[in-house]
Amino acid sequence: MKRRVTQGRPNRPDVRPRGQGTMAQDGYSQALSGTGNTMNQGRSRSIRQGRNLPEVRADNLSVVVEALQKLQPISRSALADATGLTAASITHMVNELTAFDLLVEVPSNERQVGRRPTLLSFNRQRGQLIGIEVSRTRIHAIRSDFSGQALAHLERPFRPTASVKKGLTAIGDVIAELIDPLLPLLGIGVGIPGPVNSTLGIVIEPPNFGKWRNVSLADALSERFGVPCWLDDDAKAAAYGERWYGAGRHEETLLYISLRSGVGAGLIVGDRVYRGAHELAGEIGHTTIHVDGPLCECGNRGCLETLVSIPAIMQEARRLGLDIAEPGDLHRLALAGDTVAQNIKDRVYLYLLAALVNAVNHYDPAVIVLGGQLVRSWPDLTATLARNVKGRSFGYLSQDVRVVESLLAADASALGAVAIAIHHILRDPGQTLPDTPVTGLHIDGPELRAP
Ligand SMILES: [Zn+2]
Repeated sequence: MKRRVTQGRPNRPDVRPRGQGTMAQDGYSQALSGTGNTMNQGRSRSIRQGRNLPEVRADNLSVVVEALQKLQPISRSALADATGLTAASITHMVNELTAFDLLVEVPSNERQVGRRPTLLSFNRQRGQLIGIEVSRTRIHAIRSDFSGQALAHLERPFRPTASVKKGLTAIGDVIAELIDPLLPLLGIGVGIPGPVNSTLGIVIEPPNFGKWRNVSLADALSERFGVPCWLDDDAKAAAYGERWYGAGRHEETLLYISLRSGVGAGLIVGDRVYRGAHELAGEIGHTTIHVDGPLCECGNRGCLETLVSIPAIMQEARRLGLDIAEPGDLHRLALAGDTVAQNIKDRVYLYLLAALVNAVNHYDPAVIVLGGQLVRSWPDLTATLARNVKGRSFGYLSQDVRVVESLLAADASALGAVAIAIHHILRDPGQTLPDTPVTGLHIDGPELRAP
């Protein structure tokens, strides 16, 4: 039976063990605790690590926040019903969020015998978050409140080929332009081409990204704005966005795949990105689809990315004599009856199908979300793959798996970056939130949304 929102964990005994290769290796909490096992600071442990109460508490807090994001304004008892947490647990967590001024109470309009129940809502005046996606062509930033609702967008062109210093300034300038000067800034999240070290907030060396090598982007932004900043690979950030605000909302297991100049992916289990030992888990763009295929920049041959990335598709089209400017042209030619164009599309769908079937068998996701320019250029892509996946993997696995198109489209990474910041803050609000409560700064209370 599926509940409407993610269920909390009222009892300690069912918490997952913490150890290498588990969900708990997600860098978010470790970025704060400094115990991360990262690409650069591997530490082998001979004994499985337990999960301390603060981490369990943070998980449950995020469950409560997720329910509030969806259901606010909501009473405490309805929150307990929705999350499966006990009334005592809800009281404890609501008190904590209220102590940090993140929630406000509003009277209910419902008339009941006895006292009127109060409803809980996010305190919009508490502050703002900025989520930002940095790509090879643009910077896209979103300002949001703690409920993750986008309040403003800003987009500026960006070229990573200029000096790294200029790039850092340009990213910071977009944030500065987007900030609401009347509200405190609570945190910044960034999605940027990988590889990255999400624990240390470092951009390692993305391909075609100028001189960017081991750049401490999170520290640089944190220093300029005086608030914590966290970053992740753009596809993982987009996976987060779809999980929290998009096509995979409230799904426990989600695989996001972006199909554009490269093939990126992010695998989410629970409310965390699964990273594996070297932050490379779920990189289905580099799974082998054609053992004798073209050489990939990762060193392997026949990776999915070498066969279905937009540059690969365009190159194949030109090789076969088609004069096209973008993938949408190929779709239009195929629709008009051009068999060469149709064959190229069919081939790409076959490769993608193989990758999706492998992914279903490896990860058993509840939902696969497809995003990126290719998905938008070929309107039949998602439906074609969704239909064919069902016939290709274990029946009981594939009957239920949903293959859907991204709901957030070009906003996925920036909104995901907002979600990343929110979840980091929840891990340790005492350390990450600015001290000054701002209740009363604006006298009009929070805007209420209909449940
Ligand atoms: Zn590869």
